[in-house]
Amino acid sequence: MSNISRDTFDSVMVPNYAPMQMIPEKGKGSKIWDTNGNEYIDMAGGIAVNALGHCHPAMVEAITSQANKLWHMSNVFTNEPALSLAQKLIDATFAEKVFFANSGGEANEAAFKLARRYASDNYGSEKNEIISFFQGFHGRTLFTVSVGGQEKYTQGFEPLPGGIKHATYNDLDSLKALISDKTCAVVMEPIQGEGGIIVPDAEFVKGVRELCDQHNALLVFDEVQSGMGRTGKLYAYMHTDVTPDILTTAKALGGGFPIGAMLTTDKVAKSFVVGTHGSTYGGNPLGCAVASAVFDVINTPEVLQGVEARHEKFKQKLSAINEKYNVFSEVRGQGLLIGAALNETYKGRARDFMNATLEQGALLLMAGPNVLRFAPSLLISDEEIELGLAALEKGVAKVVGES
Ligand SMILES: *Cc1c(COP(=O)(O)O)cnc(C)c1O
Repeated sequence: MSNISRDTFDSVMVPNYAPMQMIPEKGKGSKIWDTNGNEYIDMAGGIAVNALGHCHPAMVEAITSQANKLWHMSNVFTNEPALSLAQKLIDATFAEKVFFANSGGEANEAAFKLARRYASDNYGSEKNEIISFFQGFHGRTLFTVSVGGQEKYTQGFEPLPGGIKHATYNDLDSLKALISDKTCAVVMEPIQGEGGIIVPDAEFVKGVRELCDQHNALLVFDEVQSGMGRTGKLYAYMHTDVTPDILTTAKALGGGFPIGAMLTTDKVAKSFVVGTHGSTYGGNPLGCAVASAVFDVINTPEVLQGVEARHEKFKQKLSAINEKYNVFSEVRGQGLLIGAALNETYKGRARDFMNATLEQGALLLMAGPNVLRFAPSLLISDEEIELGLAALEKGVAKVVGES
């Protein structure tokens, strides 16, 4: 492997990504090491995926023991790990039925197809409009980018699927102006992740539910990023008075193993009769065994309450950095989904801060060009938070000093 380097990427890979120069080689908890042996603190969590950090013993044990039993059978058969995971998700949420996929985008694809099918079965084919929100993100398949609210992800891929409208997030009047009896579903993230870590008002979320009920539209919550303990509850909807009809979950569900799921009620699930939808790998025993182990660790009072304490620690430290360097206009978010929005002076420079922090030994994310995003392991230690944010502070000092 010694002839493999970052340059190899440019010669062998389709150029749709621009990965960092350093190549991570191994990880443990919230620490990772690159191929040159340098150590980093991971505050990115593989984009809100590695909820238990890297190589958590419960995950290693689950994948190893399942790997020695059974990996794949297809959905011609069912399997114990899938049924056990589905039962856990049902016991812990509003859901009564589960469909397994392999990613967030696929879970959403299933959700949007189910919403259309349910409306068609119950109200006729005229009821087919999906309303979602600007700046929303729901995946990269053609249907899910079209429902997503960022034009840059659909440009050049036209013609796009029809029957999709976009409202302004956290603005009930804008939804009111679009919703009608032709609406089959309203799709939203209970916290917009990629769109900049936007936490909506409680009244907005309640109002969306009421409008859906008035028009017999299903409410779909995309919890691919906000779910599985990320906000301090198992799912973000649990912070609100609102229950969705369909919920999608992925990312942290597998803790690093690719899996997604769509959760719904008996009533809605009925429209996916045999043959209407499917997936070769969805619900495979290997993925479900890992997710089951992840679920057991996350869905405990210790871990969920710990998220809140860690949130406070991040917020305090980020405020302290801001007092010293005056770079953020706001630090926002819920639990361990935190956004630090850059102020006017540093607008558009999130990437510079991210790169400078990486040089100082810590990983973080962006949520658009103006927001630094933190989505670390839910188990990140106090010491790791301090080390990670000390690296951020040095990165900030460098960017500020050079400006
Ligand atoms: C990441 C993400 C997706 C897409 O998930 P993939 O696993 O990349 O397909 C969908 N919705 C939200 C809210 C996300 O954050």
